[in-house]
Amino acid sequence: MAKVLVFIDNPGASLKKSSLELLTLARSLGESTVALNGDLSDGAAATFAEYGVGSIVRPSAQDLDDFLVAPKAAYLAAAAEATGANIVLLDNSPEGKEIAARLGIRLSAGVITDVVAVDPDGTAHKSVLAGSYNTACKATTPVSVLTLKANNVTPVPAPAATTPQATTVEVPAVGATARITAREQKVASGRPDLTDARIVVAGGRGMDGDFGPVEELADALGAAVGASRAATDAGWISHDAQVGQTGKTVSPQLYISAGISGAIQQKAGMQTSKVIVAVNKDAESPVFEIADFGIIGDVFDVLPQAAAEIKKRKG
Ligand SMILES: Cc1cc2nc3c(=O)[nH]c(=O)nc-3n(C[C@H](O)[C@H](O)[C@H](O)COP(=O)(O)OP(=O)(O)OC[C@H]3O[C@@H](n4cnc5c(N)ncnc54)[C@H](O)[C@@H]3O)c2cc1C
Repeated sequence: MAKVLVFIDNPGASLKKSSLELLTLARSLGESTVALNGDLSDGAAATFAEYGVGSIVRPSAQDLDDFLVAPKAAYLAAAAEATGANIVLLDNSPEGKEIAARLGIRLSAGVITDVVAVDPDGTAHKSVLAGSYNTACKATTPVSVLTLKANNVTPVPAPAATTPQATTVEVPAVGATARITAREQKVASGRPDLTDARIVVAGGRGMDGDFGPVEELADALGAAVGASRAATDAGWISHDAQVGQTGKTVSPQLYISAGISGAIQQKAGMQTSKVIVAVNKDAESPVFEIADFGIIGDVFDVLPQAAAEIKKRKG
């Protein structure tokens, strides 16, 4: 049976959905251990038990968050060695992928990113070349490091809860030279996190500087707001919202693309969405090639009508 190590970074009082997806996937592959960074709250401990986690390891050093990723990779490598893990799972965030790369070097392990599913034998499925191909790949090394894209696994608690015991793993000194000197909390938008959201409403140059209709539809749906690079470069919305090759990769259940042409660099970040709805006034726009549902129309007509109808039905 495979031994699976799942990296959970600072879960706080309760785990994010993407973490629950990692725990569910880990359980389907074998015996799971959580490598935790940060406090083990009562809420997180209860969720680990509920999701069938066999054991928890914690780092000896408490200052991993004072540095960029190097000490986290060193900790995970030590945790993988201590637990005899064959598979290490991380989230697919930029930080998750960077830790995975460093971990791959430390463990001489194959690294597979942008994973959307893993077979019981460890074969990973991923979407590549801006989503034009699906590939199946398997690391040829004894240990594989996989980063899972959010919204591809349905979180399911274990049939029977466990009582995971926590042990400590020594973090080797890495001589990290880049220390974090300041942090600034982002003003909370009240909307879900873009990379985790089940629904994303994204606007492009067609919004012509006014993201109001995108935000209104997003709020009616409980969705996150995304954007094309044209919109973020124009300063209409923050760069955090950019979806695509040089922005965030999202894989929601529903992606509503509004006034976006569907350039390959935009597709790279959203083509694995389950259902894509495109609103564009140009019937020849390439976005319609990947859309499951297309609406040829003006965003300023279509989006407000959709938001009003959704609000009406919700009561
Ligand atoms: C190295 C590199 C990396 C890149 N990375 C990214 C990335 O991460 N993400 C990204 O998005 N792009 C990225 N780009 C840019 C990308 O190539 C496109 O330029 C960009 O995606 C275009 O944004 P857009 O679709 O909003 O604008 P446009 O291509 O100008 O399309 C606007 C669309 O809106 C429609 N429209 C206009 N008005 C309306 C209206 N009133 N109602 C309905 N429809 C309307 C038009 O018909 C058109 O289809 C990258 C480019 C490069 C070279």
